[in-house]
Amino acid sequence: MDFDSLSKIGAMIGSGGLVVMDEDTCMVEVARFFMNFTQRESCGKCVPCREGTKRMLEILERIVAGNGEMSDLDELEELADMIENTALCGLGKSAPKPVVSTIHAFRKEYEEHIIDKKCRAGVCSNLRVFKIDPEKCKGCSKCAKNCPVNAITGKIKSPFTIDHSKCIKCGSCIDNCPFGAVYTE
Ligand code: SF4
Ligand code: SF4
Ligand code: SF4
Repeated sequence: MDFDSLSKIGAMIGSGGLVVMDEDTCMVEVARFFMNFTQRESCGKCVPCREGTKRMLEILERIVAGNGEMSDLDELEELADMIENTALCGLGKSAPKPVVSTIHAFRKEYEEHIIDKKCRAGVCSNLRVFKIDPEKCKGCSKCAKNCPVNAITGKIKSPFTIDHSKCIKCGSCIDNCPFGAVYTE
């Protein structure tokens, strides 16, 4: 692993940090995270970086929130190309790389967020569906007592259920279930 070999695959080597990601990492959220970072770091001197990174971030935020459209992918690639070729310094030129790279290698994950409204890693909270496993649920009612919108109902000592039309995806039920019966899909 050195500068030239990474450069050939569109990556780059920085300060010696290595991040290992697995199936619990959402690659769309990773792209949003890095774009958020570089967008904040932009000094604002040139328009492509100052405005372009902002527009790219807005699109990524829409996608992780479940409001993305397929045309967003073309727009992201178009903006990335423009910023890489016209930004004044290395920060702007490299800012779109995580987006381009994740669209290239993990396009399916983007499509799932946009078309199926699904985050396979279970990271994007707007796309999570909370469920209770009836096999594991002991009917203790702790989740129902902690649900801020009364979306969980059931009889004591019988499996509880979640009304998805009321659920605001706060995650409190997962945090409060002592039996690990609540999960997300
Ligand atoms: S590319 Fe460089 S000079 Fe241009 S706004 Fe970004 S940080 Fe500033
Ligand atoms: S995620 Fe929050 S709102 Fe949804 S059922 Fe669980 S506690 Fe209630
Ligand atoms: S807290 Fe867990 S075990 Fe208790 S009712 Fe809710 S899902 Fe079932």
